[in-house]
Amino acid sequence: MGLLVVVDSDGLFEINKTLNDLGQILAAQVHTHPGEAYHSETDDHQPIVTLVGGLSLVIPFFAQRGLEAWDDFRWYRLEGYADWRAIDADVEVIVV
Ligand SMILES: [Zn+2]
Repeated sequence: MGLLVVVDSDGLFEINKTLNDLGQILAAQVHTHPGEAYHSETDDHQPIVTLVGGLSLVIPFFAQRGLEAWDDFRWYRLEGYADWRAIDADVEVIVV
């Protein structure tokens, strides 16, 4: 089964303009997959977050297992254009 949601360039502009007007930046994105969590080629090349250093969280199985699946969540950080690197959230991410 496949499902793809695409935010077009007008939508991205509106998101970023709205956040900019609020003095905020788009620094993280979250999405889910029907199966295992990983960053697909589409995820790499058509992200909503384009800020270097931005984070991407992928949740497996349409998030049906909630936080019970925490160990199967996958985190990535954007290092450059389409260069998402897997990170260990326990070490790299501090939630405040
Ligand atoms: Zn994905």
